[in-house]
Amino acid sequence: NETPVPRRIKALDQDVVNKIAAGEIIVAPVHALKELIENAVDAGSTSIEVLVKDGGLKLLQITDNGSGIDKEDLPILCERFTTSKLQKFEDLQTIATYGFRGEALASISHIAHLTVTTKTRESNCAWRAYYDGGKLVPAKPGQSPDPKPVAGRQGTQVTVEDLFYNVPTRRRAFRSPSDEYNKIIDMVGRYAVHCSNVAFSCKKHGESSTSIAVQASTSCHDRIRQIYGGGIASELTELSTSDDRWAFKAKGLATNANYSTKKTTILLFINHRCVESSNIRKAIEQTYSAFLPKGGHPFVYLSLEIDPRRVDVNVHPTKREVNFLNEDEIIQAICEHIRAKLAAVDASRTFVTQT
Ligand code: ADP
Ligand code: MG
Repeated sequence: NETPVPRRIKALDQDVVNKIAAGEIIVAPVHALKELIENAVDAGSTSIEVLVKDGGLKLLQITDNGSGIDKEDLPILCERFTTSKLQKFEDLQTIATYGFRGEALASISHIAHLTVTTKTRESNCAWRAYYDGGKLVPAKPGQSPDPKPVAGRQGTQVTVEDLFYNVPTRRRAFRSPSDEYNKIIDMVGRYAVHCSNVAFSCKKHGESSTSIAVQASTSCHDRIRQIYGGGIASELTELSTSDDRWAFKAKGLATNANYSTKKTTILLFINHRCVESSNIRKAIEQTYSAFLPKGGHPFVYLSLEIDPRRVDVNVHPTKREVNFLNEDEIIQAICEHIRAKLAAVDASRTFVTQT
């Protein structure tokens, strides 16, 4: 019987740490896409174009017309924990932007080939920079890694190529590029519904037709019509409720009792971030079950604004979930509002059939 000998503990290489962290934040192409859309929105863009090849595994390109990035910031742009959005830990309490940890671009640069082309209003040309492992790298071996002046319009174009090229097990896990593309369209669609005054387009590389195209001036209702179809759009009722006690406001559009489909679709935004909440989903489904035929489900777009001091956005590496205070009370208030709306439409429908 041998006595076990402890193995020595050693610090991991920074490069290994960064690659592990990147794999937690960017699990699939759609996670990179979400971060890049959020960056574009944070930069005040009114137009966001998405181009995709092989479900985002070969190419993911996001072009915006926002503020652009100062040339002086390009050397540290993709370092981990560099951000223009957060200074003190306390700022997390009032954060209004999507990003806050300066991890997205860093992560992407560790697991893909990343190119950023950007132009601010003040600059008289655009600058193009290539990144690998958080740092500027030359476009070709032997060249200088410094950003190169190029022609370009105001805004930023982020090009992500060969995602997970250096994480072969992850790369192999993606069997179907079209599944990944569908997730990307789904995410672009969600932000396109939510971000009024922003034009969105999404298409596959090499195809002339777009999967999604909405103009900046298109109303929320028409965005839903274009992306989710006329069947949903013609049966929408407006949601709008708030309660000062729980410091929340909720707005949105949801199908009425005339509409039902096989699967629930919920577009949920909490403080303008697209998130998932199984509690909200369950409560909404239960609310609708009293109005829809058995097996019927709704479409609900819900934008929830909660006092940021009551929301913890930092609970999940992908920021997919958030925690907030008085969750039960807020969910109950929203569902009561939905119930009242559904009952009103139900009553008017009965009235119509009677006359
Ligand atoms: P975060 O969004 O958490 O700050 P990111 O790694 O996503 O971290 O981005 C780092 C910084 O790069 C941002 O704080 C922002 O200043 C700048 N940036 C990233 N994308 C864009 C963009 N599309 N337009 C303008 N600035 C951008
Ligand atoms: Mg970001």
